Amino acid sequence: MATSFIDKARITVKAGNGGNGVVSFHREKYVAAGGPDGGDGGKGGSIVLQVDDNLSTLMDFRYKRKYVAPSGADGQGGRRSGKDGQDLIIRVPRGTLVRDAETNEIIKDMSGTEPYVLCKGGRGGWGNSHFATPTRQVPRFAKGGLPGESHDVILELKLLADVGLIGFPNVGKSTLLSVVSKAQPKIANYHFTTLFPNLGVVWVEDGVSFVMADIPGIIEGASEGAGLGHDFLRHIDRCRLLVHVVDVSGSEGRDPVADFDAINEELKQYSPELATRPQIVAANKTDIMEDPENLERLRAHVEGLGYTLLEISAAAHQGTRQLVGKVAGMLSMLPPVTVYEPEYVPKPPVIDTSAPLDIRRADDGHTWLVEGPWLQRLMSNTNFGDYESRMWFDRQLRESGLYQRLEEMGIQDGDTVSLYDFEFEYQR
Ligand code: GDP
Ligand code: MG
Repeated sequence: MATSFIDKARITVKAGNGGNGVVSFHREKYVAAGGPDGGDGGKGGSIVLQVDDNLSTLMDFRYKRKYVAPSGADGQGGRRSGKDGQDLIIRVPRGTLVRDAETNEIIKDMSGTEPYVLCKGGRGGWGNSHFATPTRQVPRFAKGGLPGESHDVILELKLLADVGLIGFPNVGKSTLLSVVSKAQPKIANYHFTTLFPNLGVVWVEDGVSFVMADIPGIIEGASEGAGLGHDFLRHIDRCRLLVHVVDVSGSEGRDPVADFDAINEELKQYSPELATRPQIVAANKTDIMEDPENLERLRAHVEGLGYTLLEISAAAHQGTRQLVGKVAGMLSMLPPVTVYEPEYVPKPPVIDTSAPLDIRRADDGHTWLVEGPWLQRLMSNTNFGDYESRMWFDRQLRESGLYQRLEEMGIQDGDTVSLYDFEFEYQR
C-alpha cells in the first residue's frame, strides 16, 4: 500500500540512430552517365524530457523502463534525404531530478518549462551526391549513420512547492489544503490517509499565489525509516516555509506540545538544515476544542521558541485566510525555491581503438574511406564545434595507428580522408 507512490525510478534511454546515406546515380533514358544523386540519411530522434503538471508521481516509470527514440530513415535516389526520426518526449512531474545512474550526479533538475534534450539522436550519413566535386565526379560511396546517445538515469521526484504541510496524521493537513486551494486531497478520519503528495495552488490576491504541498504524515520513527514518513521527507526539502499543523482539540487524547516536539525531532533527525526552515504553527480543530488550556500551553511553548502560532479550524474555514496572508507575507521575504545545479559532466567514453578499421580507396584514387564500429562511436561522441572535443578525437585517431596504416597504403599529402560525416585533407 505504502509503496504505491513511486518517487524514484531507474530507466534506460536511447536516442535514435542516424539513417544511412545511399549510393545512387541519376538515370534517364538516352542519358549516358547520370550524376550521383544518393540522398543523406535522416537524423535519429532525440530523447527529450518535458515537465507535465498533470503528473505528480513517477508511477509510469515502474512499468516502462526502456525508452528508445526512432532512427532516421536511409536516404534515397534523386537526392532525397531520409526522414528524421521523431524525438521521443518523456513527460515527468515538475521537480524531477535526473541523475546519472552510475555516479548519482545530478544531470538536470526538471523544474522549469523548457524541454531538455537528454540524449541526442545520431547524425545521418551522407549520400554520394554530397561527395561530388570537380575531381571526384563519380563517388561510389556513401556514409553510414551515427549511433544515437544512450544513458542509464535515475529519476527522483523532489516536489517543487513553496510551502510544505507537516504534522501528525489526522491533524487536518489535507483538509487545510483543500480549503485554501482547489486541490482535492483525500480526507478521512483515520491515520495515513495521504499516500500521495498533493499540490495545490493558493491564490492570495491578484498576481500573488504560492504552491502548497500536503505530504503523507510524518510519524514518530520516520527518520529511522520506520513507517511512511521517511520516504516522503525529501518532498519538503525544497519548501521555503513549513506550516506545522497541530491538533489542539484534545479529541484524540493527544498532547499538542508533545506532538509538536516529536515532529520537529523527526525533521532534525532527517536533516538538521530542514529543522531550521521557517515554520508557522497552525493550531487546528479549534472548533471542537474541549479545553483551551491545550492551546495556551502550545502557544506559550512555540512562541517561547520563536515561532508564530495561528488558531484555525480548517473544517470550519476559520482563520484560514489569515493563515494564507501570513504565509504569503513570509514568503515574500524568503529566497526562491531551490533549483539544483547540474553536477554531471559528460566524460568522453573509453573507446577501444585496437580493432583495425576498414579502409577503402575510392575510384578517384585520392579519397580514403574509413569505417568501423569504434570510429562510429568516436564520432558520435565528438562535438566538432568544440576545440577540446576535436583534440580528443584527433588524439584517439592518431593513437589508433590509422595514419600509419594510411601511409603504408600509399596516402599522399592533399588526399582526402573521409570519415562518415567528416572529411579532411591529409597532411603529414
Ligand atoms: P491529515 O491526515 O492531517 O491530512 O488530516 P485530514 O485532513 O485527513 O483530517 C482528518 C480528520 O480530521 C478528518 O475527519 C477531517 O474532517 C477532520 N478535521 C480536519 N480539520 C478539522 C477541523 O478544523 N475541525 C474538525 N472538527 N475536524 C477537522
Ligand atoms: Mg492527509
